[in-house]
Amino acid sequence: MARVFVITGPSGVGKGTLIRKLREALPELELSVSATTRSPRTGEQHGVDYHFLDADEFARRVDAGDFVEHAEYSGRRYGTLREELDRRTDAGHPVVLEIEVQGARQVRTAMPEAVQIFIAPPSTDTLRERLTGRGTDDDEQVAARLRVAVDEIAAQNEFRHKVINADLDAAVRELVDIVRAETAAQAHP
Ligand code: 5GP
Repeated sequence: MARVFVITGPSGVGKGTLIRKLREALPELELSVSATTRSPRTGEQHGVDYHFLDADEFARRVDAGDFVEHAEYSGRRYGTLREELDRRTDAGHPVVLEIEVQGARQVRTAMPEAVQIFIAPPSTDTLRERLTGRGTDDDEQVAARLRVAVDEIAAQNEFRHKVINADLDAAVRELVDIVRAETAAQAHP
């Protein structure tokens, strides 16, 4: 059975880095490339980091039912394309989705068998430092992301698994353990 792992949590918590390390440890895990209407950041590539769509194209694809889930975040749209997910699960690969909380809720309804993992920051201050320090967003964007983060952190108990990203290596070990345990449980229910 193909498995789907949803990794959610506030922007700046380190989801991307954790997923990169998780996939180094478990190379069979594939990452679904999301679609977004936000502009590429320096170094981001179309089709690798995101499918960068304009607002009309995104809306057209929503209407066509092309998304498993989609959400508005900080004034931009983000979503998981069904074909991204199906192509990988049909080939028998376990897949990771890196998405924010509204999208994770939609996946919970649409695919209750998906394993949901919430990544929490050790504190809001740490999150602020990370969002400011990575230098990808201006002050207004950082403030907006932090406002959303407060609501996202409040939702953490909705999720079956929670990993606090205080120490990177420890958090990666926890994630690897969760993925291995869930994979074994689904293979031998
Ligand atoms: P960023 O602009 O920093 O790349 O992403 C902003 C937020 O959108 C992050 O929390 C990220 O995890 C989330 N995100 C990325 N792709 C998707 C997606 O396909 N669906 C949803 N719902 N959120 C996404």
